[in-house]
Amino acid sequence: MNLILLGPPGAGKGTQAGRLQETFGFIQLSTGDMLRAAVAAGTEIGKRAKAVMDRGELVPDDVVVGIIAERIDAPDCVLGFILDGFPRTTAQAEALDDMLSKKGVQLHAVVEMTVDDGVLLDRIKGRAAQAGTKGVRADDNPETLAKRIEVYHSQTAPLLPYYRKKGILKAVDGMAGIDEVTAQIEDVLGLK
Ligand code: AMP
Repeated sequence: MNLILLGPPGAGKGTQAGRLQETFGFIQLSTGDMLRAAVAAGTEIGKRAKAVMDRGELVPDDVVVGIIAERIDAPDCVLGFILDGFPRTTAQAEALDDMLSKKGVQLHAVVEMTVDDGVLLDRIKGRAAQAGTKGVRADDNPETLAKRIEVYHSQTAPLLPYYRKKGILKAVDGMAGIDEVTAQIEDVLGLK
């Protein structure tokens, strides 16, 4: 099954994508993780992306579209993939449609994880407080998070009507407990 998890930063997309991968073998493709790996490795893409990411803004569409186009072709995606953090703009969504139709690959569902902004800020503060245990991200601080939430509302939220019109948008309550969210996702996808 090929899926998109859509939701603001801190909604728990990564956690849920990891669980879906473990249970069903759909591969989690997180553009944020891939970009952080590129930054850590000091590649050209990493050099282009670092300052933009630290400001909480979006890296250029062509960069992330190129990364995903290449990754989706890998043999481990045979059971499906879960896009986590991509697409984030209408241009990326259109590029994805184009890419998938050229490859003859279907997108089965887009799962929106709804969370309110106050809860997000608390979650990120919690994530930042885990310093030393999980490795804190440079963009997990209240200032950058505020920017990331603003960018979500202005640039990514328009994807909700985009996918609703296609009839593949499902919503779950991202404020429920982790197990409950997993159960809701499996339910809306007809996986249980
Ligand atoms: P994330 O881990 O998904 O929260 O992404 C962290 C940061 O990586 C974002 O704030 C952006 O700067 C960048 N990024 C990740 N995915 C994308 C994307 N699809 N388009 C543009 N920028 C992205």
